[in-house]
Amino acid sequence: MIVILKQKIEQEKIIKLTEELEAQGVKVNPVIGTEISILGLVGDTSRIDPSKIEANTIVEKVMHVQEPFKKANRMFHPDDTIVDVNGAKIGGNKIAMIAGPCSVESEIQITEIAKDVKEIGANFLRGGAFKPRTSPYAFQGLKYDGLNLLKVAREKTGLPIVTEIMSPYDIEVFNENVDVIQVGARNMQNFDLLKELGKINKPILLKRGLSATLEELLMSAEYIMAGGNENVILCERGIRTFETYTRNTLDLSAIPALKKLSHLPVVVDPSHATGKYWMVAPLAKAAVAIGADGLIIEVHNDPAHALCDGPQSIKPSKYEKLFEELKVIANAVGREI
Ligand code: PEP
Ligand code: MN
Repeated sequence: MIVILKQKIEQEKIIKLTEELEAQGVKVNPVIGTEISILGLVGDTSRIDPSKIEANTIVEKVMHVQEPFKKANRMFHPDDTIVDVNGAKIGGNKIAMIAGPCSVESEIQITEIAKDVKEIGANFLRGGAFKPRTSPYAFQGLKYDGLNLLKVAREKTGLPIVTEIMSPYDIEVFNENVDVIQVGARNMQNFDLLKELGKINKPILLKRGLSATLEELLMSAEYIMAGGNENVILCERGIRTFETYTRNTLDLSAIPALKKLSHLPVVVDPSHATGKYWMVAPLAKAAVAIGADGLIIEVHNDPAHALCDGPQSIKPSKYEKLFEELKVIANAVGREI
């Protein structure tokens, strides 16, 4: 339920109404804007009588939120959310460019790629230290050593690091050492992990599950936000369909749909969506053209020998060309890179 307030209401009156509503057992989420201010009610609203709230002189109207996601809902927060990563932003006019290898492999590998993508213009470095692999015999990542190497690359380039967490036991280490915590597709519905991530304040890049609906993705965001961490970035990374030519099927329609349903920034991963390096550029361009707030792209300096996801990784030279082409597209849709 959301309560839309009349314009220019004194703060004491808003506080009084908030207290009255909270006394009825719901949590009130205020969004005080310059144009409109709203109070988002989360929790069990079944005992609340909207006509009684509407009788209050500071209230314009009361609306029911049909969707099960509340804090992630655009109705609760009409303006776009901009997630602040120590000064670097995800959301808003500037498109966030996240680039780097699938996995951290060595100090020289990650620092060289970091320097290359930084020079091209990327604003975040990605790289997996803990890898969710289908086969237990495949490279599982350098784990804590990988996190340390990411920190070395950050120190050398100044790029904030985005890396995937697999276990709730690692939250403290990630919270201390990384800038954006990625929740991978396979963990999108690891509810215990999501609940724990809700207790910290670190930005979370939440990837859409392999077969998750948009509502399920937003409900997973809601798990994190319900705990108090509202710094969530959604990521479309392709979904399972009957098509096997590509690794997954990039659901481009998810971008405008998520932007309509939610205020959270939407980042697109054309690398995992296609599994093919030569499809990364066209889909990245399409994503920017239709409103993506960022792109997370796998870049490797030696894709043929990459320990993970070489076939979908592009070389820095290709990333540079794509970057230039994206500037034109971003410009055409009133954005910048
Ligand atoms: C990744 O980003 O390297 C990754 C494993 O992605 P996803 O969870 O989308 O498969
Ligand atoms: Mn990968």
